[in-house]
Amino acid sequence: MPLDFEITKEQEELKATVREFSEKYLVPRVAEFEEKRMIPPEIVKEMARLGLFGVVFPDKYDGLGLDPITAGLVLEEIVRGDVECSLAVTWLVHTSWGYVAYKYGSEEFREEVIRKAARGDLWVGIATTEPGAGSDLVSITTTARREGREYVINGEKAYISGVREASEKGTWFKEGGGHVTLAYTDRSKVHRGMTLFFVPLTDPRVSIRLEKELGRKGWSLGSFVMKDVRIPETYRIGEEGRGFYVTMEGFDHARAYIALTCAVAGKRALEIAADYIKQRRAFGQPIARFQGVQFQLADHWSSLEAAHALAYKALWALKMEQEGKMSRFEVTRIAASAKLFAVRAAKAALDDALRWMGAFGYTEENPVALAWKAVKSYDLAEGSTDIMRLIVAREYLGKEYIK
Ligand SMILES: Cc1cc2nc3c(=O)[nH]c(=O)nc-3n(C[C@H](O)[C@H](O)[C@H](O)COP(=O)(O)OP(=O)(O)OC[C@H]3O[C@@H](n4cnc5c(N)ncnc54)[C@H](O)[C@@H]3O)c2cc1C
Repeated sequence: MPLDFEITKEQEELKATVREFSEKYLVPRVAEFEEKRMIPPEIVKEMARLGLFGVVFPDKYDGLGLDPITAGLVLEEIVRGDVECSLAVTWLVHTSWGYVAYKYGSEEFREEVIRKAARGDLWVGIATTEPGAGSDLVSITTTARREGREYVINGEKAYISGVREASEKGTWFKEGGGHVTLAYTDRSKVHRGMTLFFVPLTDPRVSIRLEKELGRKGWSLGSFVMKDVRIPETYRIGEEGRGFYVTMEGFDHARAYIALTCAVAGKRALEIAADYIKQRRAFGQPIARFQGVQFQLADHWSSLEAAHALAYKALWALKMEQEGKMSRFEVTRIAASAKLFAVRAAKAALDDALRWMGAFGYTEENPVALAWKAVKSYDLAEGSTDIMRLIVAREYLGKEYIK
């Protein structure tokens, strides 16, 4: 396949559909996401009606069956309309972890859960983090005990996206949702004793608590406690003892989409700031005429262009892996590099862009400030910046240098 940045006519048509949705539903209402701390449910429902929650699921299960690059084109249009990134988070978590749940889930699970996820009737989240374990996943304490054809799950997950939306049936998604949840089935085997399960947050034995997050406030962040939650064995995702490895694969997907989110939110916010400094005057001329500002803008725009291209390389790597042409390790390294670079490029760009906007930059309704808070969250979510560095370094230096 030749290296080619061109997109097909079908991809352009899909982009145009999402752009229309984005301009009509997102652009006029983004500030409301923050103020009300929620995405208006009708927006999520419209997105489901357009099939946008089913992008990567096979058509056999009512999805669109598209590849990760085409999915990236969809995400790009969502982010351009919502630089505050709540809807981007909603979409990318569902798309990444829903795909992994589909890939490793049983046929019964696909029929029962994935079909609903692809139709946009059910949302899929991810729950690895706990009050005592984030980067260091081996320290989680959640357990799953097998009883006949069920598992009984106990534990607490913390700083989890979408807990409110997943726990309510009918408000955002007809069936609410659930989280791909990491637990120990055999603690003595350390990471080889971990298993993944789909835990519906609508289960009465799950209780949630909300956090007051700093940015991207439209999609909730919180914790949930599971007390003797019983789920059928068909809700196990992958084999017992493979949970850690399947989780790493899910991270690759999420990190590639996050890299794209940060690059696009950064570029869109830079455009907004550039429009402002063309109008705003100081010392008798528009601020955009000062070369000190122009040089910063040129540097940031170039970094974000590079971040954008690297994000698509990561999505391309996922596609290559799906076609059996690239190894998992290579995909992991590229996805980690893409996230590492894009988060830093976007943070640096938006920090300067906020300053160019003066005091107005430091107000809550300023879209550049909203984008800055959103990209900042990716210093942590789906693996911290330090962990991205560890992954890239490990792939280059070898495992003997980094555990
Ligand atoms: C907005 C937001 C949304 C999130 N959504 C979800 C979600 O949906 N599901 C979910 O499971 N989790 C979610 N998280 C949690 C996220 O995955 C964790 O914050 C992340 O993995 C880091 O874990 P921690 O916060 O416990 O930090 P810690 O692991 O306690 O780390 C604290 C700091 O130490 C650094 N550090 C740790 N180990 C090393 C090391 N070996 N070398 C160098 N530095 C190190 C880290 O980089 C970090 O900066 C979310 C977080 C945020 C902020």
